[in-house]
Amino acid sequence: MSDFEQLRQQMIDFQLVARGLHDQIVLNALKAVPREEFIPTDLLEFAYRDSPLPIAASQTISQPYIVALMTAALELKENDRVLEVGTGSGYAAAVLAEISDNVYTIERHKILVDTARQRLQDLGYTNVQVLHGDGTLGWPEHAPFDAIVVAAGGPEVPKSLKQQLAIGGRLVIPVGASLDTQKLVRVRRISEDVYEEENLGSVRFVPLIGAAGWEDETAEIQATVKLKPELSLSELIYQSSEHFANIYDVNLNNLMERIDDSRVVLLGEASHGTAEFHEMRARITQELIEKKGFTIVAAEADWPDAAHINNYIHGLEPDALLQSKPFSRFPTWMWANQSILEFTHWLKAHNDKVGSSDDKVGFYGLDLYSLYSSMEVVLKYLEEVDPETAEVARVRYGCLTPWAVDPSLYSLAILTKQYRECEKEVLTTLQNLLKKRIKYSLADGEKFFNAEQNAKLVANAERYYRTMYYAESNSWNQRDQHMFETLQDVLKFRGPESKVVIWAHNSHIGDASATQMSASGEINLGQLVRQKYGDKTYIIGFGTDHGTVAAASEWGGPLEIKQVEPSHIDSYERVCHEVKTDNFLLPLRQPLQKITRKKLLLERLERAIGVIYKPESELQSHYFYASLPHQFDEYIWFDETRAAEALAKETTKGIPDTFPFGV
Ligand code: SAM
Repeated sequence: MSDFEQLRQQMIDFQLVARGLHDQIVLNALKAVPREEFIPTDLLEFAYRDSPLPIAASQTISQPYIVALMTAALELKENDRVLEVGTGSGYAAAVLAEISDNVYTIERHKILVDTARQRLQDLGYTNVQVLHGDGTLGWPEHAPFDAIVVAAGGPEVPKSLKQQLAIGGRLVIPVGASLDTQKLVRVRRISEDVYEEENLGSVRFVPLIGAAGWEDETAEIQATVKLKPELSLSELIYQSSEHFANIYDVNLNNLMERIDDSRVVLLGEASHGTAEFHEMRARITQELIEKKGFTIVAAEADWPDAAHINNYIHGLEPDALLQSKPFSRFPTWMWANQSILEFTHWLKAHNDKVGSSDDKVGFYGLDLYSLYSSMEVVLKYLEEVDPETAEVARVRYGCLTPWAVDPSLYSLAILTKQYRECEKEVLTTLQNLLKKRIKYSLADGEKFFNAEQNAKLVANAERYYRTMYYAESNSWNQRDQHMFETLQDVLKFRGPESKVVIWAHNSHIGDASATQMSASGEINLGQLVRQKYGDKTYIIGFGTDHGTVAAASEWGGPLEIKQVEPSHIDSYERVCHEVKTDNFLLPLRQPLQKITRKKLLLERLERAIGVIYKPESELQSHYFYASLPHQFDEYIWFDETRAAEALAKETTKGIPDTFPFGV
């Protein structure tokens, strides 16, 4: 078996069958088509990735799973006559041609038509005809079709396509009023005038542009720009943004007005290891606390680690319930860094000044990687308040202890079916704790809340690691769902008037429905917050072009200071880099000029650096497609940035023992 054949088999097993796709005819078809032949040569190594990939004319070749899902929904037979709208690379047409005798496919971009036609011919697909034109009108000369599939998202099902279906024919198409997400619809023609429609779930496609699709926004925008040829997008951004020289004297008054009376403000970061992102978030958070009465900071940190900071800023002794050092798990620098140290001092000084405990700021962790320390907190808490229950809980949690040191290995436990036991045990522990909520919390509400959140975290973390084994996007969703639930709990705990600032990566806070993530069914914290709090949500993304970043080369690897590559030519970052000022705030929800927002709506690449940075495979490892103005309400740009400074023993000299970072 060649390397590509092996990758293809893995694609079938892990991306299709593992997600519940068992249609053998469709699986065989995907196994027969060499996807690598349809991919631009510089992306060859990613041919079998579980994602769409860029092709010419700013279009994409669809994710294998989506191609399989839509093909299965067509219920194809060998003699069927099939129409595809949106040839793109020609890959899906080849898959269809593996199953049915006659395939017709239409593409609006000439360059894609020419390459797909040649490719299909070279690969011996003599049963496919490619047409250059507007597919929303169908191909009447060859109608009626037994099956029609549309590979781009339109506002509604085009009448012309319905009319070209044979009786009994199936039409599968993504439709939706927004350019961001659509529902996948299957229309079945029952008789001359009767059609049945089914919803097959949420998807995300490039727009269907044509007479019965969306208007060509690019053309419209190009026309506008032609009217004002002197204005490039970078110049428009320059005119529509607020420029600043440095973080310390940036005037945030206008930003505060735009945030208005939002209850949840989300502050992102384009990397976990950039000093400016932390520092700017601190500046904005300080103003939100002082000018708008925000009293909660919730971070993409683990609950027990954040609890150390919370104790410290309330002037309390370090939590006796916790033995393990806070922020000592990889990636330590994400929170144990110089900028956060300074911000923590500020929070403490602020809380010292504030009289009422309701007005003091609390610092909470939303993430769920602290399985072990969370178990520790729950057990120690129970030992204090209810030693008998503690004994029972200790036995129950014993189920998870073999994996406590490296919970990612827990997914291996599913092979032995032992997970079924652990799932039951951790949930029972949580339920028992919740049953005694009134009794326990009467004694000390804050302590009970802390233990309760840790017990919830253990239950969610158990599920998270178990799911990681099956399907990546599901475990991502569980993690963000956990963050959202924790956020809700904190808001409830702090009362109906409370307001929260969230610190997390752009990929958690920028609305996922406006990014490529949604194509694989991924949701995130920002999207869930927007759904719940609507206009009372304000999401701010951050970006940079070049500089240095603190990151590792692999999970668990040592911290390195790496050079950030200058941004990709097709990215939002490149457009921002070309703006003739270094740092700016760009309002997107309430733009200073509407045309700027409109031009930014067209999807581009966007870069995300996490705790790992791989400059050598940057395009595939770190870039994804997004529509910036849908993703964020505002975007803050630093053209050049420097690596976050991780705390080390020397830098923390003189800091009291009570300080909440275990360096
Ligand atoms: N099936 C393709 C493949 O396997 O590579 C992927 C298709 S891509 C997601 C969607 C394609 O639809 C784009 O190439 C786009 O140019 C095309 N498209 C959008 N509107 C169209 C229309 N009205 N007629 C024909 N093609 C259209």
